[in-house]
Amino acid sequence: MYDYKTVRHLRNRLDGFRKEGKTIGFVPTMGALHEGHISLIRKSIADSDVTVCSIFVNPTQFNVAADLDKYPRTTERDCAMLEAVGCDVVFLPDVDEVYPPDMDTSYEVDFGPLERVMEGAHRPGHFAGVAQVLKRFLEIVEPDAMYMGQKDFQQLTIVRDLLKRLESKTRLVMGETIRETDGLAMSSRNMRLNEEERAIAPRISKALFNAKKKLETHSLAQIREEALAELDIPEFTVEYFEIADGITLQPIDSLEGVEIAVACTAVHLGPVRLIDNVVLKE
Ligand code: AMP
Repeated sequence: MYDYKTVRHLRNRLDGFRKEGKTIGFVPTMGALHEGHISLIRKSIADSDVTVCSIFVNPTQFNVAADLDKYPRTTERDCAMLEAVGCDVVFLPDVDEVYPPDMDTSYEVDFGPLERVMEGAHRPGHFAGVAQVLKRFLEIVEPDAMYMGQKDFQQLTIVRDLLKRLESKTRLVMGETIRETDGLAMSSRNMRLNEEERAIAPRISKALFNAKKKLETHSLAQIREEALAELDIPEFTVEYFEIADGITLQPIDSLEGVEIAVACTAVHLGPVRLIDNVVLKE
């Protein structure tokens, strides 16, 4: 596996691959890799000639400084995992490489209603940071396809919109959410849970799965109310539990005329904020 810290070295190698007619698949990550990330790498390897994974904890998408400071960093282990699965290139830039002080890397964008709900409403500036870093990475890597997880459902929708705005030729490929055997969605942040917190964390996915089971018998308002009641335990602080149109991301009160519906939640547990979602209808 090739590993590069600079844009110049990475681009040299990728230009070489492109001259050989090879297609490039790209998996952007913030590291502390788990099977969810690796499933995206596998998808890319299956479709593309060359797979590039970036590991970069992007400071501009963190709206809480402590969350950025405490974000797990396990680069050596990450590289071993990438090597083992057959990733071709890992890009490990530092902040100045992604945002050189003498380069204007700012990107002002308003995703409209898509960013006024759920993660966008609760993490001001988050999607602006995501858009900024992805725009930069797309310019650096110029991938044929980019692989992202359904775990971050709203992010996928925003990135789809971003690619359209940028008139990008990169295809966006979604990977399903990979879960622990008890249902907890894999997340780099799970590492920060203590034993007791880890034991109750699966209640989040359970509430989402239960919501899906009630579709035939309950109204969406009832489903939401019961899910909130399930999550109402002293260890959890629920930021939101929404049932939304999977395309517009706006809250819905009925599935009628809705092509895709999704239940999304964000819950604080101990020191971490966990998000998860389940597609109710597609
Ligand atoms: P992150 O490192 O958290 O920025 O995530 C990098 C990519 O991995 C994003 O596209 C995420 O949606 C995806 N991802 C994170 N967790 C999972 C998971 N449990 N299953 C599938 N994809 C995931």
